[in-house]
Formats: sequence, C-alpha cells, structure tokens
Amino acid sequence: MNSSSDEYIKISPGLMLLEDALARIKSTSKTVAGTEEISLANCLGRTLGEDVISKVDVPPYDNSAMDGYAVFSSDLVNPPVRLAVTGRIAAGHPLAREAQKGEALRIFTGAPLPPGPDAIVMQEKVKLDGEVAIFSETVKPGTNRRLQGENIKSGSTILHKGQLLRAQEIGFAAAVGLSALKVYKPLRVAVFSTGDEIVDSTIKKLPPGCIYDANRPLMVSLLQGLGCAVTDLGILQDDAGTISTALKNATTDHDLIITSGGVSVGEEDHVINIIKDLGSLDFWRLAVKPGKPIAFGSINNAAFIGLPGNPVSAIVTLMMLARPMILLMSGRGDVELKRYRAEADFSLERDDGRLEWMRGNVKTTSDGRVLASAFPAQGSGILASMVASSGFIEIPAGRARINKGDMLDFIPFNEAFK
Ligand code: AMP
Ligand code: MG
Repeated sequence: MNSSSDEYIKISPGLMLLEDALARIKSTSKTVAGTEEISLANCLGRTLGEDVISKVDVPPYDNSAMDGYAVFSSDLVNPPVRLAVTGRIAAGHPLAREAQKGEALRIFTGAPLPPGPDAIVMQEKVKLDGEVAIFSETVKPGTNRRLQGENIKSGSTILHKGQLLRAQEIGFAAAVGLSALKVYKPLRVAVFSTGDEIVDSTIKKLPPGCIYDANRPLMVSLLQGLGCAVTDLGILQDDAGTISTALKNATTDHDLIITSGGVSVGEEDHVINIIKDLGSLDFWRLAVKPGKPIAFGSINNAAFIGLPGNPVSAIVTLMMLARPMILLMSGRGDVELKRYRAEADFSLERDDGRLEWMRGNVKTTSDGRVLASAFPAQGSGILASMVASSGFIEIPAGRARINKGDMLDFIPFNEAFK
C-alpha cells in the first residue's frame, strides 16, 4: 500500500497557489489582437476570428458510399432477382435521365444517386450474367446511400470563433466552399533577456564570468509556436536606465513585452522596480517548482511578463502561465492543456510543498500500463532535462511523498506549444 496520499507538507505562506494565479490570468486577459481575412493556404496555426456558418449542404446531393448497383429496394423483396443493368453513374457524371423501377444502375463511390433508387448493393454481392445483375439478397432502403446534408447542413455553424486552425479545420472550411477565413492577427510580442553575464551565442569567445543567452532563442521559438509575431530586442544589461528606456520604447508597437531574468529580489534585479515606476505590476511568488518568481503587469498599452532567469524556470513559466495569457490575448478560446494519467515509475521524498513540474517521459508496458519516469537531474538551470523529456510529470502541491505506482498527471510538452 502506498502512504503518499495522506501525508502533506504545508505550503509557505506568501506563495500564491497555481490555481489562483491561473484564475487571475484567465479573468483579466482580454483579446487585443485585431482580425484579418487570409486565404486557406495561410491559415495553418492561426486562430479563427469569427464563427463559420456553412452556406451549403455536405454532401450537396444524395450519393453512393460504395462501388455497386443502385436499385429500388422494393425490386429485391423476393430474391434471387435478375435486373438488367441499363445505366452507368460515375462520380461527377449524374444520370441524364430518370431512373426506372425494375432496372439496376451501375454506380461508383461518390456518384450522385438519382431520385427513385433508394439503396446501393455493393458489387461484391452481385453476380453478373452478361448485362444482367443477379441479386441474391434483399436490401434495406438507405443501404450505402449517403444523404444530402448528412455531414453538414446548410446554415449550421461548423467552426467557432477562437478555434485553432489545424489541417482538418482548414479542410472542413474548404468542404463548404470557402477559400479564405477571418483570423486574428498575430499578437505582437517583444522579447528581451536581461543580465550583465548574458552573451549572445553569435559571440564566439565567451568573456570571463559570462554565459550564453539560452532564454531569448527559447522564448522566441516558443512564442512563434504560439502564433505570435515576435521581435527579438536583444540583451539588456542590469542597469535601471537601460532597461527602463528599452521597455518604454518597446511599448509603442507591441501588445506584450516579455523579459527573462531580474525578477528575483537581488540588488541586481531591476525589472520589478522599473515596471512599478513605468506602469503597474503584479509580482507573484508562486507555489510552483521550478519558476517561483514571475511578474505580470503593463506599461502604457502593452502587457508585461517578467520570467525568471533560470532557463528551465523561464520555459516552464512561459508554458504554464504566460501561454494561457498569450493565447487569450490572441483571441483563442480554449487554453486548457491536456493531461494524461500515468503511474510514477519512481519514488520521491519532498520537503517543499510547492506543486512541482518534473521533466520526464512516459512509456506503455506490454500489459498496457503507462509509466512516467523522471529525468535524473531536475535543477532549474538544467535545460538538458527539457531536451531529454517529452512532458511534465505534475506533483500536486502539498504532497510529501510519491511512491512508485502512484497515479500522476502527465502534460505533454507538445500540448504547450499550441
Ligand atoms: P536571474 O533571474 O536574473 O537572477 O537569473 C537566475 C539565473 O538564471 C542566473 O544563474 C542567471 O545567470 C541565469 N540566466 C538568466 N538569464 C539567462 C539567460 N538568458 N540564459 C541563460 N541563463 C540565464
Ligand atoms: Mg539576472
């Protein structure tokens, strides 16, 4: 028996719970992106800006679901029945006359069914004797018949405002005769790294005491994956004047400014005070691990998010907290991440009650169990933990111990990029 479920650690006072932070983000984030009409070829990954109502029935006419013979079912009540094959209907070629009772019509998948015949007998069930088809069974009315409008009725809403456009939504729009869609314009996001020690990776020789900037390329890429129009504004030194001027300038043509670093409470962490001076600030110390400090606020008309500097903290807070805000500002409706249950393939003793996102992988055993294993090094500076993993294993807030076999949530990373 496991004893994990009844042992809890108190969360330090002063730390905000994740659910409270997410509720706040969801209640305050409003769509700021405008809309534009673009052709289907450019719609992949965009967010729909209005409901789509079909003006047509799909299929537009009754048609055959099979290669076979179209018949009046009432002709086959006493099998075997012999009917002359007196017409041929291929897809795209409607019968140019009326169908008659007592005849069989050769018909192919997708071909329009004329008024009268109410069933299609699949060709495998029919024997031919020259120009005569022999039917050995009765057939129910409606067999293998696709009805006009059975997929989509004219006047029905087929796609909803705020929906992500994947290949299938784009195909669906084309199926009702649309060639362009109204979508939200990409959110305009400016990105900075901060830190005197941070050096762009184009610099070949790393100066003493410096590290390469992992966060900016990481943030730019993740934001592009979320459909943002990203401006990379480089690295800011830990200097209040420099940061202040750069942030102010960025507000003119961006909806959102994101920085990494400088949001802890050290002497060199200037970002918090600058946002307080220039605009408004909500600084949160969250009961999550990694990614405790994160700042939300605004300067002029631009929203602001200050991510922690440790690269894993930066990417985790971007995926789990900034992402829903960014998507809501971009017009997206549903921003929930999908979670899957998996069995812990590890055990863990904890002395910290924060909700924890461990990086790891899942695999299915031969007897159908889904096992989650954690990457061995979980430090918030160890990006290798993200690279080697496919998702977060979520340890609920307050849990003191995880025993092997405990059921936990697994959140695939690829969910957090859309
Ligand atoms: P900070 O939040 O500025 O106190 O930074 C916390 C840690 O993250 C420090 O060890 C920084 O050197 C590191 N760090 C900050 N920004 C970056 C970055 N852009 N790329 C890689 N590491 C960073
Ligand atoms: Mg710093």
